[in-house]
Amino acid sequence: MKLLVLLAVVAGLWWLRRLAQVGRLARQLRQMRQVSREAPPRPAPQPMLRCLVCGTQTPASEALQDARGAYCCAAHQAKAAQDALSRTGERKE
Ligand SMILES: [Zn+2]
Repeated sequence: MKLLVLLAVVAGLWWLRRLAQVGRLARQLRQMRQVSREAPPRPAPQPMLRCLVCGTQTPASEALQDARGAYCCAAHQAKAAQDALSRTGERKE
């Protein structure tokens, strides 16, 4: 009989511990859902521009643009300017 009471007490403690774990998990899940709901909206997609030198697609906000077109970086913009200068130089000669 004492063994049965001991088993019942152990089973009760185990059950209470499980309840506490489930409650903690439910609270964490609720917090995670709240955080995901409060997350800022994703930025709208923006147009991509092709670099005139290497052809890399670059977001319009990050691309460097001039009268000739768009570039992925300052080095390619400078290279395009240099190429344009050398082309006009060749035509004069
Ligand atoms: Zn480029």
